[in-house]
Amino acid sequence: MKVIRVALDVPVAKLFDYLAPDATAADVGQRVLVPFGRKQAVGIILELAHSSELPGERLKSALRVLRDLPPLAPHDLRLMQFAADYYQYPLGAVVMGALPARLRRAAEPPRRRSKRAGEGGVASPPAAPAPPAPALTTGQAQAVAEICRGLGSFRPFLLLGVTSSGKTEVYLHAIAAALEAGRQSLVLVPEIALTPQLEALVARRFPGTPRVSLHSGLTESERLEHWRAAGGGAARIVLGTRLAVFTPMPDLGLIVIDEEQDASFKQAEGFRYSARDLAVARARLRGVPIVLGSATPAIETYANAIGGRYSLLTLSERIGAPAPRITCLDTRGERLADGLSSRLVNALRERVAAREQSLVFINRRGYAPVLACRSCGWVSGCHRCAAQLVLHLPERRLHCHHCGHVSPPPVACPDCGNQDLAPVGHGTQRVEEALQRHLPDARILRIDRDSTRRRRAWHDMRQRIESRDVDILVGTQMLAKGHDFPHLNLVGVLNADGQLYSSDFRAAERLFALLTQVSGRAGRGGVQGEVLIQTEFPQHPLYAALQLQDYRAFAEGLLAERKQAGFPPYVYQALLRTEAPRLATALDFLSEAARKGRKFDSGITVYDPVPAALPRRAGRERAQLLVQSSSRSRLHDFLGAWRSALAEAGVTRARWTLDIDPLEF
Ligand SMILES: [Zn+2]
Ligand SMILES: [Zn+2]
Repeated sequence: MKVIRVALDVPVAKLFDYLAPDATAADVGQRVLVPFGRKQAVGIILELAHSSELPGERLKSALRVLRDLPPLAPHDLRLMQFAADYYQYPLGAVVMGALPARLRRAAEPPRRRSKRAGEGGVASPPAAPAPPAPALTTGQAQAVAEICRGLGSFRPFLLLGVTSSGKTEVYLHAIAAALEAGRQSLVLVPEIALTPQLEALVARRFPGTPRVSLHSGLTESERLEHWRAAGGGAARIVLGTRLAVFTPMPDLGLIVIDEEQDASFKQAEGFRYSARDLAVARARLRGVPIVLGSATPAIETYANAIGGRYSLLTLSERIGAPAPRITCLDTRGERLADGLSSRLVNALRERVAAREQSLVFINRRGYAPVLACRSCGWVSGCHRCAAQLVLHLPERRLHCHHCGHVSPPPVACPDCGNQDLAPVGHGTQRVEEALQRHLPDARILRIDRDSTRRRRAWHDMRQRIESRDVDILVGTQMLAKGHDFPHLNLVGVLNADGQLYSSDFRAAERLFALLTQVSGRAGRGGVQGEVLIQTEFPQHPLYAALQLQDYRAFAEGLLAERKQAGFPPYVYQALLRTEAPRLATALDFLSEAARKGRKFDSGITVYDPVPAALPRRAGRERAQLLVQSSSRSRLHDFLGAWRSALAEAGVTRARWTLDIDPLEF
């Protein structure tokens, strides 16, 4: 009897057995079409066996082994197994979720398309890097030399480089060395919007070297084509976002993660993996170096570097422009006009007159975060979420940024009938409008998720910025990351104070990273940039550290605080997240889970269940339970046993997931 064990995309932590007389050892990692319930499903063969625990009459036959593509390699399957174990997530869902959508479906066997040259396509044999590469600084040269020495073995590096210190140049040299050694490189970036810039750079530096990109902005067939080029070894450089971490690469020789601290590397729903952490695991499994680059690394990463687990490479020299001058504008006692201080408006006016570009940063899209009644205090709330509805103009709609609910604003206050409802607070649209009023001659461009929704919108905006068709950019964190604007010399920051006193212990770390990135946009064209931060807390230590641009001092301070308070990286955490139609159902489930957990291991701290930070979303009540330990392995042993106990607990109306190393609470 020949039995195959198949991973299927189902929320159960087990493999499914099928009879497959024609399967051979070479089919492990291959896709297979099997009957599942009344339907057919595609799975991946993970094991071959000669017997099954199922009685013979219940064992069904596989329909067809799909041999149209090379099978997933054993090391790719090991990475997926590691991910499933580490994140306590069903292996089948991990394995199938890693594949392009076309390969997951029963119908529609993939067709081989003709290959296109140029962007994303695969063309020509590998070539050496183009000679005009700029000369390296001493720091860059040392970093490159260290990384190159690490080729061929697992070496994790933290490349800690101030903004404009040329981290990308280090990546490119390391990639060149990997190419020369006949190896593929995988480069992960936090946002799709950053890929075109990097693609263009890579294309210029490695003309003729086949490369592909992988991100959620591709069509299904593009994604399949690129996946196949990477997996077949034709593409030598793979650029991508989070989801690219699983891309099969037979000759993988180097992994680079840019802006490694970025929250988007962690998937926020379902299979909550960290692509950064999995990339480190992948580098270890494959015995290759990995470079984690950042000006403001995650505190966990920094702790690994100073603790000796990662090699620390530093770039402290800025290229092209001196560090920006960062000033706090004390807004206490000032009546702000539309959220803008007169000093900021004047500074913007001067830059417009000098034909220089400026950026006004406010990390909140929409017109105003809430619509309110001044006579009774009513505020626009979402009926499905414990959140306020954001007013968006010009379409005059209230949007819920959590569940997507959209409705027209009421003509009068639903509580008291007052017709004078007023927008409260500021979002990008309102700042744009106010700036237009203060500076009528300025050409203003708003860049946020709303204005860039249309395909190619961001591409067109970039061109307008580069051709100096814009004086002032108003934007959210989309603009903070990595983009290089050579004519931008002034950055104004609005509304940063809210994060200074957040209950989230990671808020300060995130704010420091974000403001460092935003500040780094100023003064790239050889001129010293200026950053003006509007604040009511000009003496706050975070702003002081920012003004000194001393990440290491700031990080050391945070580490001391976390050590004292018993927060990560000094403890390891997991969060049991629950959703149910009623809060009581969710909390009951968690109480039972806590009771079970406390019986397992006294070395694990099991906290009490609490409602989530956003206690209701899309009509479902949300609650959570935190567990932690000072030992990673002990926590993982506990989680494995606990998850099985929870799964066996039987029917509950509560939906639950485990979030390992949670970033959001
Ligand atoms: Zn009212
Ligand atoms: Zn909502």
